Amino acid sequence: ATMPPLLSAIANAGRHGVLVKSAVVMERLGQIDTVALDKTGTLTEGTPRVTDLRPLAGSGLTEEELLVLAACAEHPSEHPLARAVVGAARERALDLPVAEDFASAPGIGVTATVNGDAIAVGAPARLYGGTSRPKAGGGATDALCAKATALAEELENGGRTAVLVERDGVPVGVLGIADRLRPDAATTVSALTTLTGSTPMLVTGDNPRAAARLAAEVGITDVRAGLLPQDKVTAVQEQEKAGRKVLVIGDGVNDAPALAAAHTGIAMGRAGSDLALETADAVIVRDELATVPKVVALSRTARRLVV
Ligand code: ADP
Ligand code: MG
Repeated sequence: ATMPPLLSAIANAGRHGVLVKSAVVMERLGQIDTVALDKTGTLTEGTPRVTDLRPLAGSGLTEEELLVLAACAEHPSEHPLARAVVGAARERALDLPVAEDFASAPGIGVTATVNGDAIAVGAPARLYGGTSRPKAGGGATDALCAKATALAEELENGGRTAVLVERDGVPVGVLGIADRLRPDAATTVSALTTLTGSTPMLVTGDNPRAAARLAAEVGITDVRAGLLPQDKVTAVQEQEKAGRKVLVIGDGVNDAPALAAAHTGIAMGRAGSDLALETADAVIVRDELATVPKVVALSRTARRLVV
């Protein structure tokens, strides 16, 4: 017997290394007309490396002490930036005390207690700029905040993701982290542009400077940076309200709500978080972004054969 077109399309997608979870999903993939791409771990390889260790002068920390604090707090996190920080500590064979009270805030960072100190590691604009902002009035603290901001911007202008480290609500240093663009990122963006008739948008929790730099490299003009997980959902919903059918491609816990809200969600399988893999409608098992436009095309062909 011949297989129904959508089922043979699923088998075909599997040969390309994409796990499509159902025939309904296979059909929906061909309907999408708008694409929203995550940055870290999706357009980039997701194996970033620590390039800069910058303890603040007033912190009394050496480069290695700063790295130890950050790595201890990041140890339980599965975020690509966390793995970069822990990896850098391991490479230097540094001893990592066990952190307590670990908590993570998707799209923001992590907090933990290390040797009795409250350590926070995450997006510079989100830590002391957000709810954990140190009490106003501390002159030394204000000066440290200004220094940390300047350092972070310097690193971000160089295309790095800057990660701030705070101890007891006071900035103690900034780490610079850099990730490589996937080799097939630009060709995938242009193939998706051809398929949908509009350029994909970039939806990222990272800073606008690093986001704009990377977007320019792959030919994306619609850049939404500094987004929290819920902001990614809003970006998708705005498009869907305007009658668009949005394909979201992401890898992180922070992408899960947008993957769920999208017409169709695809997760990066190799380094993707469990939550993203469970939430997505399809999973790129072989880690090739370029398979996405191929699978969309497969769906369109199959849909023409279904009557
Ligand atoms: P993206 O949307 O590009 O995949 P995320 O939403 O995962 O990025 O993260 C957005 C920003 O939040 C990061 O650029 C970083 O500044 C901060 N962040 C999130 N998780 C962590 C973490 N575990 N350690 C350090 N920073 C983090
Ligand atoms: Mg990501």
